[in-house]
Amino acid sequence: MMTQAAFVYTPRFNDYDFGPGHPLKPIRVARTHELLRACGLLEPASVSVVKPSVADEGAVALVHTREYIDAVRAPSEGRSVRRPLEFGLGTIDNPIVEGLYEGSAIIVGASVLAADLVIDGKADVAFNPAGGLHHAHRARAAGFCVLNDCAVAIAHTLKRCGDGTKAVYVDIDAHHGDGVQEAFYDRRDVLTISLHESGRYLFPGTGSVSEIGEGEGKGFSVNVPFSPYTHDEIYLWAFREVVVPLLEAFEPDFVFTQLGVDTHHTDPLTHMSCTTRGYMGVVEEIAQRAPRWIAFGGGGYDVTAVPRAWTLAFARMAQLEAPQRIPDSQAEHYGKAEKPIPLHDAETPVIDEDWARVAREFAEESVKEIRERVFEFHGLGEGD
Ligand SMILES: [Zn+2]
Repeated sequence: MMTQAAFVYTPRFNDYDFGPGHPLKPIRVARTHELLRACGLLEPASVSVVKPSVADEGAVALVHTREYIDAVRAPSEGRSVRRPLEFGLGTIDNPIVEGLYEGSAIIVGASVLAADLVIDGKADVAFNPAGGLHHAHRARAAGFCVLNDCAVAIAHTLKRCGDGTKAVYVDIDAHHGDGVQEAFYDRRDVLTISLHESGRYLFPGTGSVSEIGEGEGKGFSVNVPFSPYTHDEIYLWAFREVVVPLLEAFEPDFVFTQLGVDTHHTDPLTHMSCTTRGYMGVVEEIAQRAPRWIAFGGGGYDVTAVPRAWTLAFARMAQLEAPQRIPDSQAEHYGKAEKPIPLHDAETPVIDEDWARVAREFAEESVKEIRERVFEFHGLGEGD
């Protein structure tokens, strides 16, 4: 059987826009759509492009408080937000803009639709490139994220599929997936795993190995912090040591992933040193263990890197072969059009030897601590 893959897309994703000076640029999502189309990856009969609509408020309320939803809605209804900073709104990261609610809720609607397509068997895998807004809290916007589409889609899935349903959330964004972790911190039916640049160096500052969940959920929140300048080889090693055994032991019904690309070495907001090769190494490990897979986009602030990485990722999800090169019609967005531009990174960053050693030791320490603190909750020995 061919893998049935859904790409969730609407030009309305452009409405999630905090203005020209803001680092989160909706164009990266539109360019992903353009690049996938130009590569012919949306043409096969096994691929469908599906248009989302704004999420029901009831779905949004599975994760967010009514008071917060009301605050996010205020600009659309011509009201001013009362005490906006209490809700994380009106900051440099999360300015109050016109249509804030609709722009956010269409992304939530897209992630819920991606989940529904997979739950209903209409797709085996589904990708919402505008999703992945993992920093949004129950009643507070943070880190460019207003509504947490990832947490809503997971909560919606558990509600629809009933007791005993298990979901895993794997977050490979360079920043800690704090909002999603928080939403399920005391639950054991959702295993959240976030790999990220350590909070010592990067927003939001959380995500240490000691955050393992609480109460019933103890052992079901997992954090893999990395040092700056962590490169493909170290990242993939840690992923295989931690995520692969946990995924196999947990046996989830659904795999959710946040596929942020801000671990890329050219990303202007972070300090990681990964390339599309390491990124796709991780995507490959997930693909082999995720028959029912809902993927979201996420961070990524180099607009020449993000569409390439997401095109490669979607091709793998759909079990299609991506072309080697960027089609001519898209080349102008990715460099000099005179010579062919590969879809994968052409270059690997050179990393200072001392930093490479620091990065390796840091990752080894993270892996060791996770084995000691978390593996026992999953019937895994420290040496497994
Ligand atoms: Zn990020």
